[in-house]
Amino acid sequence: MKTVRQSAPQLQGLVPYDPKYIPADIMNSANENPCDVEESVKREINSAVRNVRLNRYPDPLANDLRDMIAEANGLDRSQVLLGNGGDELLFDLALTYGGPGRKFLNMPPTFSVYENNAILTNTEVVNVPRRADFSIDEEAVLARVAEGDIDFIIVTSPNNPTGQLAPEEFVLRLLDATDAVVMVDEAYFEFSRTTLRPYLPMHENLLLLRTFSKAFSLAGVRLGYILGNESVIREFMKVRQPYSVDAVSQAIGRVVYANRGKFERGIDLIISERGRLIEGLAAIPGVEPYPSDSNYILFKVPDAGGVWQKLFDRGILIRDFSRSKYIEGTLRVSVGTPEENDAFLGALREIVE
Ligand code: PMP
Repeated sequence: MKTVRQSAPQLQGLVPYDPKYIPADIMNSANENPCDVEESVKREINSAVRNVRLNRYPDPLANDLRDMIAEANGLDRSQVLLGNGGDELLFDLALTYGGPGRKFLNMPPTFSVYENNAILTNTEVVNVPRRADFSIDEEAVLARVAEGDIDFIIVTSPNNPTGQLAPEEFVLRLLDATDAVVMVDEAYFEFSRTTLRPYLPMHENLLLLRTFSKAFSLAGVRLGYILGNESVIREFMKVRQPYSVDAVSQAIGRVVYANRGKFERGIDLIISERGRLIEGLAAIPGVEPYPSDSNYILFKVPDAGGVWQKLFDRGILIRDFSRSKYIEGTLRVSVGTPEENDAFLGALREIVE
């Protein structure tokens, strides 16, 4: 046979996720922590990893780490589930609550992976776009939900790439208005110091997504988790890949979680640098930053695509959204170290002025 048949119909027209993550001197495009795990914690990681039996399959549910996360959140193990990055759990959400004949309510502009997962699983995407200032169109969402046919919803708080928190009062109204699963994606919650966790016991349909990739400097390791009601977690168990969280990641995750207090100073620095970066951006003529509760800032700039290229030519990689629907003409910069932020602001000022 010299040919190959077409791939699945839902893949026609889909483009693979490509964030243009290319090597540069300053990598402030992917909302990572600009600092690696500190040396004392790295040493602990090294000895933990040395003791991992590589010939054995990992604990499928990463129960030791699950127990640590459960205890820290005042929950039971049955209310926690680890995944191969938050990304895997987002795909599992679409597998668990989506599928043919089912509907996902999306609030673009937001994390593009959600819509992709819906398409992959033949889930219908119901878009309720945000307002011009990227706040959620609350009444439109509640009105759409009232029709009763939505199966799952993702509220990103803070939202990526726009940066702002979802109002707590709105999420609570939404939870009361529907029996759809409402996942609050808290991938960046450490930078806003705000969580919906206290409401978990009151709402069976509330699910929180967290990650080790941002505040905890572990984007390279791939660890995320959900907190939710036991009945929902049990459904996720049916679709998850049995060994998706490998033994090395589990060992690293346990050490980092036990040392999570050591990351607080770094988080505080990112929060204060965020303020400085927003002020610096606002001071450049023609540049309009949006407010941010996270570790990245979306901003408008004339000829955004050209500016992105000129920054890249100077060794500075940020995220190009200049041609993305709903946010045309914008770029997103992750908060880096003070030196990186100065270099970025200096280069941008020179390019724009
Ligand atoms: N949610 C949001 C909003 C994100 O921006 C990301 C990372 N880009 C994730 C979830 C997933 O992160 P990870 O797979 O690294 O845990």
